[in-house]
Amino acid sequence: MLATPPSFVPLLSGRPAGPLVTFVFRGHELLVREADLGLPDEPACAALGVTSAQILPVGMLGPRYCGTAWVTRDATPAAGYVFIGLRRLFGAIDEEVLAVASRALQIAEWARTHRYCGACGAPMQAVAGERCFACPACGHACYPRIAPAMMTLVKRGDSILLARHTGRASARFTALAGFLEAGESIEDAIHREVFEEVGLNVRDLSYFGSQFWPFPHSLMIAFTAEYAGGELVIDRNEISEARWFGPGDALPEIPPPVSIAAALINAHLPQGR
Ligand SMILES: [Zn+2]
Repeated sequence: MLATPPSFVPLLSGRPAGPLVTFVFRGHELLVREADLGLPDEPACAALGVTSAQILPVGMLGPRYCGTAWVTRDATPAAGYVFIGLRRLFGAIDEEVLAVASRALQIAEWARTHRYCGACGAPMQAVAGERCFACPACGHACYPRIAPAMMTLVKRGDSILLARHTGRASARFTALAGFLEAGESIEDAIHREVFEEVGLNVRDLSYFGSQFWPFPHSLMIAFTAEYAGGELVIDRNEISEARWFGPGDALPEIPPPVSIAAALINAHLPQGR
């Protein structure tokens, strides 16, 4: 599961002495060495026009200072380097580096999309000591966006409810999930989404865990819930299939281990399996 490494310490400013690790993003693509998927050295960053002044602090991964920067869509890497979508690097690069890269992507995207004030259009300025851009003209302040989403595994006796979402090529089944609406608590969102997607009422919500997800800035907050009533009625706009899986039923393909969905489902497999 994607998680912050124990040795990671976030930093909001400054560059301590020590080796520099730079995560350079072009959209959701990370700059890596073609030969071994290693991260770029300073000349490779400079070749893209990324100067040390443009590198935003992310934090320390052990003794290594990690920074991030973004480049425009038309940026072309130096010979020997390539941009690869971060999702494609799951399982291909070190898990701790991947977790910090995921954090770096959110910071780089926030910086790329908050260069100008959303209220008055003036250029934004970084605020010292905070992860914040503020507008010198009108005072509007922007912090990295984080979009909370709920994930719920509904249980009924020894069975769990898994669903396939429409619009995804994958045949995977997973727990129900959805973004919060403005004005909702997580609990509100769970009751609303479960009823909207599959027509069920639930009770006894139990917190399982949370996971950041950098595509582009979600925080998935996972729960289990007990079935409390209703018949399965699927919202065909969202769900193509939803089924109860009980003891003895063959489990379908579920999300990969990097996702909290896999941890949630594996922790609550039907008893007797
Ligand atoms: Zn402004």
